[in-house]
Amino acid sequence: MVNLIIFGAPGSGKGTYASRLLSRLNLEVVATGDIFRGMIKEETPLGLKVKEYVENGLLVPDEITLEVLKQYLAKIPKGKGFLLDGYPRTIEQAKALDKIAKIDAVIHLIVSDWIIIERLSSRRICKNCGAIYNMLYLKPKRDMICDKCGGPLYQREDDVPEVIKRRIEVYEKQTQPLLEYYREKGVPFVEAKCEKLETPPETVVEEIIKGLEKLKLV
Ligand SMILES: [Zn+2]
Repeated sequence: MVNLIIFGAPGSGKGTYASRLLSRLNLEVVATGDIFRGMIKEETPLGLKVKEYVENGLLVPDEITLEVLKQYLAKIPKGKGFLLDGYPRTIEQAKALDKIAKIDAVIHLIVSDWIIIERLSSRRICKNCGAIYNMLYLKPKRDMICDKCGGPLYQREDDVPEVIKRRIEVYEKQTQPLLEYYREKGVPFVEAKCEKLETPPETVVEEIIKGLEKLKLV
């Protein structure tokens, strides 16, 4: 059983790697955004509280997020670990997390800025069904038309180079102190680098698994 946190910039492929790691290791991916959405849908008492914040475009306060996380982690079957994606985002959250779970390692995705910019600025989304395409490696069969539903594809306004650069900066500013926090605590790191645009996700996932094996965590 291993408990992990994954850090990676927007466009680093974090979500893809997380879902692949979950099928390889005995893990559950814990993404707070998804948990919130699930709870709101099920209308649990805590979910209704979360809903108020989300619907008003407010950040869910730390103590509520932590309570949500606590309940969620408690439900993970014994012997199964977790991979936290999107949490913690602040030192306060990291300290609070320490009180409810032990983190065995941090997975740090290191992806060159230019790759993120290339990837995200090549992304196209179907206006109709939300399917995601990429003009570099996941092209629709017909130009700017969705394969699944025939709807028109568009580019998100924040998927343009200038905005992507800013998003990367924000991410780095937010994440740097957290990486330092875990380093100082002596939590081991598994670093996975992606320096080529064409690196397939399997390669990065293998690198992460090898890193965890070296640490004797899996
Ligand atoms: Zn579509």
